Amino acid sequence: MLWQALRRLFGRHPVPSVEIPPDTWSALCREQSELADLTDDEVERLRQLAGRFLAGRPFYAAGGMALTDAAQLRIAALAVLPVLGLGLDWLKAIRSVIVYPDAFEVDHEEMDEAGVVHEVRDLRAGEAWSHGTLVLSWADIEAGLDPEVATSVVVHEIAHFIDGANGAENGFPPLHKDQDRRRWTEDFQAAFERLNSCLDADREPAIDPYAATNPAEFFAVLSEYFFRLPEELAHFDIRLYRHLAAFYGQDPLRRHDRVAAVKTALDV
Ligand SMILES: [Zn+2]
Repeated sequence: MLWQALRRLFGRHPVPSVEIPPDTWSALCREQSELADLTDDEVERLRQLAGRFLAGRPFYAAGGMALTDAAQLRIAALAVLPVLGLGLDWLKAIRSVIVYPDAFEVDHEEMDEAGVVHEVRDLRAGEAWSHGTLVLSWADIEAGLDPEVATSVVVHEIAHFIDGANGAENGFPPLHKDQDRRRWTEDFQAAFERLNSCLDADREPAIDPYAATNPAEFFAVLSEYFFRLPEELAHFDIRLYRHLAAFYGQDPLRRHDRVAAVKTALDV
């Protein structure tokens, strides 16, 4: 496969990177809603990051997946989007990527309310393994080509890796020095409790109810909304949008406004 050959070629270079053709890259960014509004400069920085992401990690096909170069490119594009303002070091825990054609079965242990542990088999669209493997369902990535869909399995799993960068996946990633930790904790906790109360009362939640599972899933699901449907996140809780904008160093709402303004100007 082309990327694997290029990885071998650049493997001994101090900063290994796969050269991604700019035209191919721009076309890919245009058809993916969370990338479509990036500026030319951001698209170029994303291309550089993705080239380094691809060069540093083997991709493995599982369950009969036909893993094409185009599929690897799309995964890399979505994987580096959350670190566009942070840098690739935030993804250094990821050592390999496994791609299934569809949702895959995972065996795990679950404790019931009586404290009894059961063996459970679940279907998953993605997993972030603690020893550094990112596992993904290609069907779920392709579903993300629909701009109305809130879910982005790649961004979700990358958010778990970022969250765990300080040793624990608990919805509290290593914040920047100028961020107020107390305010982050209070705001996230209040919104998490509000979502759970809404579900307990059988009311329609404003965001995917999976976010109510625990604080780690809350952070991962909110990260999906932040990049894909920032208006809906701002509507759910503008304080959380601002915390995530400060943390990720990106402002997707402003991106949408800028593109809308350009479109309006062209219509006049
Ligand atoms: Zn998750």
